[in-house]
Amino acid sequence: MRGRFPHVLTGVLAGLAILVSAGGARAQVAPCQTNADIWAGQGFANAISLYSLEWAPFGATEWGWETYLPLIQHELRTHCGAGTPIFASHLAAFQQTHDLAPTGLFDSATFQVFRGVWQERRSFIMARLAGECPEPPPINQLGYLVEAEEHADRLTRLLRRDVLAAYRRMAAEARAQVPEIAADPELLQIFSGFRDPEADAARCAQQGNCDGLRRAICSPHRTGTAVDLYVGRLPGSGVDSTAPASRAHMSQGAAYRWLVENAGRFGFTPYVYEPWHWEYVEPWREPSAP
Ligand SMILES: [Zn+2]
Repeated sequence: MRGRFPHVLTGVLAGLAILVSAGGARAQVAPCQTNADIWAGQGFANAISLYSLEWAPFGATEWGWETYLPLIQHELRTHCGAGTPIFASHLAAFQQTHDLAPTGLFDSATFQVFRGVWQERRSFIMARLAGECPEPPPINQLGYLVEAEEHADRLTRLLRRDVLAAYRRMAAEARAQVPEIAADPELLQIFSGFRDPEADAARCAQQGNCDGLRRAICSPHRTGTAVDLYVGRLPGSGVDSTAPASRAHMSQGAAYRWLVENAGRFGFTPYVYEPWHWEYVEPWREPSAP
């Protein structure tokens, strides 16, 4: 747990403070502490499991679920922390809506429902489930990135033109809104866009790395609508390392958090397992409050 312990302690202390003050100055409770008399216990439990839950959402064992908290908070339409009564009550409402027991407690079954909701927004995945593999776009629909948009670790430098235009609007707004993103030109640079299926298959065979064969058989990057964005990296790890510590690090960064909140307005939808991978679908309506 290392440096994480202070976070756990903070959450626990916040939970205790709520329990202690639950009957007291209710008129002055912060917005995230509303309904503490009902949901404080669940918040307390979530604050602990956020860092200590042992589970394997993608096959390998992970501890805690902080990596997924930004996407979950966005889906629940709350900025309240995982240890708060409001987060627990929104989670319970989500569970109720999706035919789960409305415990207000984060668990693996609830996560799998979130994951399904997010996957359904990826039109590429829905096509794959229908047994299709979308054709690459005609070459004249592809546009080149400019140098400032290319990450040093890039594989490719092409995107479908409309997707490139949406990316440019999105990156410009992120830099205008968040000084931390503007200060680091690497953030939101692209390290993979359109990938030619034949070149992908050749690379897979040559490197013996077929990413579970997905890359070789039918990668979303063949459409020119999938983009891998630099969202930071754990020192010593790759820009696309799926190691739990790598993904946890990326998910707490300013770039990823901004994307979770805002990318949908520009037509991009996330892939929960890869914080860097975003797919252009179309600008979509934000989910309504539960
Ligand atoms: Zn990707």
